[in-house]
Amino acid sequence: MKLLVVGAGFAGAVIARELAQHEMGSVVVIDRRDHVAGNAFDPVHARTGARYHKYGPHIFHTNSRAVFDYLSQFTQWLPYHHVVNAVLPGGTASPMPINRDTLNIHFGLNLADESEMRDFLQGIREPIAQPTNAEEHLFSIYGRELTDLFFGRYTFKMWGLKLAEMPISVVARLPVRYGNEAQYFDDEFQGMPREGYLPLIEKMLAHERIEVRLGTAFDKAMEDQYSHVFNSMPIDEYFENRFGPLPYRSIKFEHRFDESFDYDVPTVNFTDSGEYTRKTSWALYPGCGGSPGDHVTYEIPCSYEDNNFERYYPIKTIDGWPQRRYKQYEDLARTKGNMTFIGRCGQYIYYDMHQVVANSLSIAKKFIESSGS
Ligand SMILES: Cc1cc2nc3c(=O)[nH]c(=O)nc-3n(C[C@H](O)[C@H](O)[C@H](O)COP(=O)(O)OP(=O)(O)OC[C@H]3O[C@@H](n4cnc5c(N)ncnc54)[C@H](O)[C@@H]3O)c2cc1C
Repeated sequence: MKLLVVGAGFAGAVIARELAQHEMGSVVVIDRRDHVAGNAFDPVHARTGARYHKYGPHIFHTNSRAVFDYLSQFTQWLPYHHVVNAVLPGGTASPMPINRDTLNIHFGLNLADESEMRDFLQGIREPIAQPTNAEEHLFSIYGRELTDLFFGRYTFKMWGLKLAEMPISVVARLPVRYGNEAQYFDDEFQGMPREGYLPLIEKMLAHERIEVRLGTAFDKAMEDQYSHVFNSMPIDEYFENRFGPLPYRSIKFEHRFDESFDYDVPTVNFTDSGEYTRKTSWALYPGCGGSPGDHVTYEIPCSYEDNNFERYYPIKTIDGWPQRRYKQYEDLARTKGNMTFIGRCGQYIYYDMHQVVANSLSIAKKFIESSGS
């Protein structure tokens, strides 16, 4: 078979590798960008000589041993447990997700253990038995003051939506801490690829049956030349917005060099109502190199129309209209026998890297099995 994979991000790279490995035929991978690794691209910056993540900090974490073992064929790992601080008005930095230290710092308390923390939260939380949106969910755990301070303005900057307009699932990703643990994720496997994400993906694509063509955008004329296309381009773009565009949030990155960075953690969140959501000192991520102030990147969320149609985050609203619209595209895509949409923009799902790897492995397996191999 001649197979085409559109997009050299995690989704496309995993599928291409699986098809090649299982001798399904020759695999051509195209990407309209001039690099592989998709949004996980982490080149060495020409000015600093140190690594940074071009499309925002990417932290690998998973509870799936299968995904971890799969990726470990292509990389070794540097140990890293993600820790984030929220900068409060006045400049104090406190742990995020909220934990006991956060409350002690913010309220000037001395909560000594988990049970004191639970008692304190019990006194400030709102008794909402069945929260219907992200705001009510957070009110029911942290009360109003902490919700507004740590989530309200941040979420509005990030999504352009109020917490009350968002489903619970958007904030439920964050663990609720009653102890002092500062780590952001609880997953069993966490780390950074030793040489970076770019070499990981390059190694995955380095196979005699895979050919990579960069700077090559998908063209519908290509469909006739291949037995099957695995497509990670935005599904609405493929169907020329037949049911209207799917909304995405995007981010503009502002790079600053040689400025001070006074935090112990690589990424801090801004809780104020200014335009920035986060800033990152790349040197504080293992494997990046350099010194903390060498290269600091600020993030300014925006609509994707304001950022050259760079689609980063599929949007979820309380009434679910984007997912309903996606469903129309998904149904239409089912009528195309020789094309499978994959990845964050092909399936319009807010996938993390481990999720997109798991999903792509499963898509490849199904295809291979259905082809009788
Ligand atoms: C700011 C940000 C931070 C993130 N942080 C994390 C994190 O900390 N941890 C984590 O696990 N995940 C994180 N993610 C998610 C992670 O980036 C995705 O899970 C992963 O990139 C999805 O891979 P993908 O292949 O589906 O998409 P992508 O990485 O977006 O790759 C798709 C590729 O397809 C190409 N393409 C699109 N259209 C066409 C076309 N018409 N023709 C040719 N090529 C095309 C694009 O150029 C792109 O290279 C983050 C994402 C963003 C945006």
